[in-house]
Amino acid sequence: MTGSRTRLFHRTTAVSARVILRSGFTDATGKYLTDTEHTGVWLSDRPLDEAAEFDTLLVVEIAGELVEPYEWVEEGKPYREFLVPAAVLNAAATVAVVDEPVISEPDTKLIIAALSGEDVGSFRCCGCDRIEELGLWSERPPCRWCGATAWQYVSS
Ligand SMILES: [Zn+2]
Repeated sequence: MTGSRTRLFHRTTAVSARVILRSGFTDATGKYLTDTEHTGVWLSDRPLDEAAEFDTLLVVEIAGELVEPYEWVEEGKPYREFLVPAAVLNAAATVAVVDEPVISEPDTKLIIAALSGEDVGSFRCCGCDRIEELGLWSERPPCRWCGATAWQYVSS
């Protein structure tokens, strides 16, 4: 295999994450706003906010050419999404749990900023209330004034 490995994300519940890490992914089936049924595991190229019970973020590393045939292309979507058969992932992917930067959940403003394609936003430090411009999707560093690691999204 010559292609580079790509890093994708899958958000799930803590219980499901444990099952995935132990036994691998399981296909889900749904219509996903289309007319026909589709089967696979949803992955995205950046963490997406979902329902609060989906509180565990998995990072999935796999050769890019294995997932590209399963890209779920939609007009104007600012991130890439894939619906990959579980068998492909279980054969070729490495999976780990991500320690996420703290985001107030579920933060609809953050979702809106992401959907409008913004990469940077204003975050309020939960320790000292100072505002810092930080990447929406990069790991957020500790506050340089007070060292707190929790940030609340304010606006872009
Ligand atoms: Zn601070």
